[in-house]
Amino acid sequence: MHDLFLIKPGEIELKLGNRREFTRRLKEQITKRLKGIPFIFEEYPGRFFLTVEEKDSELALFVLQHCPGINGVAKAIRIKKDIDEICQATVECAKTEISAGSHSFKIEARRSDKSFPLDSYKICVVAGNSLLSEYPKLSVDVHNPDFIIRIEIREQAYVYSRTVAGPRGLPVGSQGKGVLLLSGGIDSPVAGYMMACRGLALESIYFHSYPYTSPEAQQKVERLAARISIWTGGMNLWIVPFTDIQLAIAKASYEEAKTLMLRMAMMQVADIIAHRINANSVVTGESLGQVASQTAENMRLSQSKTSLPVLRPLIGIDKEGIIAIARQIGTYDISILPYEDCCVLFSPKHPILKPDFGELRSHFESLALGNLIESAVDNSERKCFDFADALKSGI
Ligand code: ATP
Ligand code: MG
Repeated sequence: MHDLFLIKPGEIELKLGNRREFTRRLKEQITKRLKGIPFIFEEYPGRFFLTVEEKDSELALFVLQHCPGINGVAKAIRIKKDIDEICQATVECAKTEISAGSHSFKIEARRSDKSFPLDSYKICVVAGNSLLSEYPKLSVDVHNPDFIIRIEIREQAYVYSRTVAGPRGLPVGSQGKGVLLLSGGIDSPVAGYMMACRGLALESIYFHSYPYTSPEAQQKVERLAARISIWTGGMNLWIVPFTDIQLAIAKASYEEAKTLMLRMAMMQVADIIAHRINANSVVTGESLGQVASQTAENMRLSQSKTSLPVLRPLIGIDKEGIIAIARQIGTYDISILPYEDCCVLFSPKHPILKPDFGELRSHFESLALGNLIESAVDNSERKCFDFADALKSGI
């Protein structure tokens, strides 16, 4: 036995000239996640279809639900464009809903194939009547039905009820690759998720300051990386030993400037790694004014250490909004575990809010961190998380 999933592609449909390339990316992403599982992928204008063996159905649905580029997905019945078969499929589809205690329904029909003899309204009437004759206790409610049966007449006919939402956006990789600065906090995992949904493949960088930060702090970041892989389909995590750089800054910089110097050093490391792995951007979890180091002036300084665009998807979202997304994607409970990250430990009481750009740039240069930065990159550990790790991260 096989199950068929009807996939609603959303934004890919707007890509006119590039639709093929976006579709290829989406298919590639699905293939990567279904590793080893046999499936058939079909493309038609406005809809994709995935067929898997029944035993793989649950995993396939999970994959599709978390694959950026997909707006919605439904388990569907495919039949010939024949009204009797459509009526039978309608009854079949309604069975599960009725056994779950539903009483009222509505039918929605879409006839893309205008050569089909019945128009959408008539399809609804005929299918609705056949359902009512099979289940006389059901009632029609067009405003607030317990369930909706959807019928689509296209290259063939399709009947389905429940549609599960996908993450929307664009297929991962369609916008190239970015490096995500991933701390153990609440914000950066959300930033990663958001950029993955905009089509950016990601590798993450975590600055680890052992022994000032504990192995548990690193494990927390690894769990977050595994979790985000549900949407990215897999991700490398660069663990950059940052202690020597921090100590050098602590020794040679002055109290108010330390956080800024740290940020600039982080950005320089990110820039080197990004160029090594052919990334086109750096992603951070910054939000304007959230903490002292996230003023526009301070962001100008940190981003001056990279030639790449710094993408900050959370820039206009307040903490409550960010927390709501973190809860929804299941990173919140990991992020609030108590292990501190390196910045918290070295934070001055009164950081500079409006730095003098030229003066602080020269101060950074005077720290002469170049060699330490190069060797931090060279001594990084690169851990690989794939979709299977993501599944283990707990749903
Ligand atoms: P988060 O919740 O993401 O940690 P935050 O509010 O604690 O954010 P900051 O500590 O100012 O903010 O960090 C701003 C951004 O810098 C983070 O969102 C993250 O992208 C990056 N960052 C901070 N610390 C680290 C770290 N140890 N490793 C990697 N990236 C980091
Ligand atoms: Mg942080």
